[in-house]
Amino acid sequence: MNTVDKCDTMENLYPLGIVMIKSSRISVFLAVTMIAASLGAEALPPLPDRSGGGEMVDRFEYSSAASLQKAWRSVSGTSPATISFSGGRKILRLPCNFRGTEISRACWDFDTALDMTASTAIQFKLFSPDTSPVSHFTFYLRSGSGWYAAPFDHSPGSAWSTVTIEKDSMESEGAPAGWSRIDRIRIAAWRGESRDTTLYLADLETLGGKADIVIIRGDAAVGHDKKMAKPIAQFARTVAQQLKHFGISHAFLSDQDVTRERLKGKKLVILPYNPTVTDDVLSALEHFINNGGKLLCFYMLPERLGPLVGIRRGTHMKQSYPGQFASIRPTKGNVLGLPVLTGQSSWNIYKAQPVEGKSSVVGEWYDVNGEATGEPALIASKNCIVMTHVFIDDDPLNKQDLLLAMTGNFIPECWLQAAKYSIAEASTFGPYDSSEDASARISKLPGCRSHTRDLLNSARSLLDQARKHLSAERFAEARTAAGKVRLKLIEAHCSAQSSAGSETRAFWCHSAFGIDGLSWDAAIKLLADNGFNAIMPNMLWGGVAYYPSEVLPTAPEVETRGDQVAACAAACRKYGVECHVWKVNWNMGWKTDPQFLKKMADHDRVQVHFNGTVSERWLCPSHPQNQKLEIDAMLEVARKYDVAGIHFDYIRYPGNDYCFCKGCRSRFEKALGRKIAEWPSEVRNDGALTTKWQDFRRSNITRVVSSVSSLARQQNPDIKISAAVFPNWQTDRDNVAQDWKLWCEKRYLDFVCPMDYTPSNAQFENRVKRQKEWAGKVPVYPGIGLSTWSRAGNVCKLIDQILITRRHRMGGFTVFEYGASEAQAVVPLCGIGITGR
Ligand SMILES: [Zn+2]
Repeated sequence: MNTVDKCDTMENLYPLGIVMIKSSRISVFLAVTMIAASLGAEALPPLPDRSGGGEMVDRFEYSSAASLQKAWRSVSGTSPATISFSGGRKILRLPCNFRGTEISRACWDFDTALDMTASTAIQFKLFSPDTSPVSHFTFYLRSGSGWYAAPFDHSPGSAWSTVTIEKDSMESEGAPAGWSRIDRIRIAAWRGESRDTTLYLADLETLGGKADIVIIRGDAAVGHDKKMAKPIAQFARTVAQQLKHFGISHAFLSDQDVTRERLKGKKLVILPYNPTVTDDVLSALEHFINNGGKLLCFYMLPERLGPLVGIRRGTHMKQSYPGQFASIRPTKGNVLGLPVLTGQSSWNIYKAQPVEGKSSVVGEWYDVNGEATGEPALIASKNCIVMTHVFIDDDPLNKQDLLLAMTGNFIPECWLQAAKYSIAEASTFGPYDSSEDASARISKLPGCRSHTRDLLNSARSLLDQARKHLSAERFAEARTAAGKVRLKLIEAHCSAQSSAGSETRAFWCHSAFGIDGLSWDAAIKLLADNGFNAIMPNMLWGGVAYYPSEVLPTAPEVETRGDQVAACAAACRKYGVECHVWKVNWNMGWKTDPQFLKKMADHDRVQVHFNGTVSERWLCPSHPQNQKLEIDAMLEVARKYDVAGIHFDYIRYPGNDYCFCKGCRSRFEKALGRKIAEWPSEVRNDGALTTKWQDFRRSNITRVVSSVSSLARQQNPDIKISAAVFPNWQTDRDNVAQDWKLWCEKRYLDFVCPMDYTPSNAQFENRVKRQKEWAGKVPVYPGIGLSTWSRAGNVCKLIDQILITRRHRMGGFTVFEYGASEAQAVVPLCGIGITGR
């Protein structure tokens, strides 16, 4: 449930042999397709217009099937690609011939010569009437003798979807030779089931390369200091993401790739955080500026560029008191659209200075008390704006406006683009693709009430306003109105949901102190008011407890902030919410006393990797004293506190490569009744021995579960025992030795929460169905990965997945996780509909 689990779970995102479920919408569509096919034509949904801006990689203009198949070669047994048509445009038809074949994937190669140095992503449109025979998709780009690769998802639907693969998200395989030398594209659909299906692919293009704006990441400084890599990447990414949020495309270059040629034709260069700028880059930038190019520079202005842009570089200045640099407000000057106040908590600035007659201060720093500091925040000349600190992502909405004002100052079309983008975005959320579509379908939802209709009406009139502002070129006003449309429509969608009778509605809460800024009482009341009835607060780890413990080291904060289990449990009793205290097992935690860590290491109680590396924070599960520590800690909670239950997490090994410590060897040898000559390789090279080894690992984990379960129930027959588990029992029982199907069969657990953190509803549904079978009579409350999705707080997807749990009569769900933004933006929207009382 925490980040480690989340990453681990990613490996299980696309298990082989997955069966995707067809929704009723798809079945209807399939019927139509089959009729059309029998008439000899393919019924494809309308292909949306190209959004523009990208560079086409291939237009599929082939004169014959043979020439197409020469360009798009099918690999090892895959059926050949053919051309199809949609709305007069040529598209690629890719058959996946899994029926009656042994191919592990359907795969096509396209040889090309791409320079993606300045591109940000590659994008295409994809349609498939049925992706259930495919377990997962991979997109590859070959460069030299290596590849860049990324998985992609296509939820089966009745419409085309746009797949965007960001360069940032691609992993290297082998040793790729850089983004300038992409010579092959490969698309692979991996076998899931032995049935055939077809993919249709259109508009294959690279994004960003030809954009007017280029962000130059300051990688040169990393050569001097490795620690710089993180802030340099982070501040460049923040600027890039904000541009994306208002629909402005941009090119992205490492400073190592900057040449005059690559800056040619660009209008604006952004330096997000470039502590070291090499002479070559400076020469290219001088050339760029001398030819009319504009510059937006954060923090340090390179000295050599000062005279060209009419701004002095200035000097470093630390804050002289905390909160000195708290917000930016516009002063005189003519940079249009600067927000009245932009929050930014900066700790220092690089104090650039205006040059008389050439530049002026257009924004000033204000401190945390709202007093002007007299220090410059923004300085503008005719070809450059300098912001005296890096661009931080606090106060995101005003930050977007600030960045738009700065880019729009040099490229006025940005305003039009941003306004159009906001209006287009306003109504594309959840299952809807236009505001008309949203309005029509929301008003037909079973929970639609007069309040919902009021919201839809006000969304409609706000949208009219936004469009009027746009045509009158009042771009900022158009964006503001469009933003409100989106909020109204989402609220309407949420308010039209129906609640269910009795079900367990739980939240994990990762912090032992609950929600920042709320007491436990207020945090639990908020849940109860909005129809949630259970919480799993993370109160203890392998090596730390957030209550006065006689078993584990107590966290020092307990002294000042009090016993957190007591506070949470009292609030839960008051508001009728079940409190299931969440224990992270084996992992001692990030805040554990270093003395305790050392003691465990000194006594050979920590895990050792197959390769011999010691894992200092993980307790070895086969060590009898570690098992006792885990059991005693959980029993202590059950004995001392009036709580509804105790909840296992990390009740597993970190992975297949653990644990190979000395103790594991001797304990395994004892269980086996003989010595192992080749440790640890023999355990992997001998099939029969491997099975025994896996049984040994499972038994260590299961022993703790069964002991806690029976002893806690002896103390308190009403206590509920539950566990957060990996989603795919079939493979996870070996990989991480987590045998939760057995724990259900033996009734060690009262309910189980598989961490089904996937943004794909189809995949979520598929997992839930299989898990219900594995758990038998024990209830499964699937874990929904709300906070792990890229658009955090995606309440519409949360609703979709809750509805899936209801469709399969799971009797409940568990949301990851209860934090400040979820408390503010998600929980109340659930309370007006899906979890309403
Ligand atoms: Zn061990």
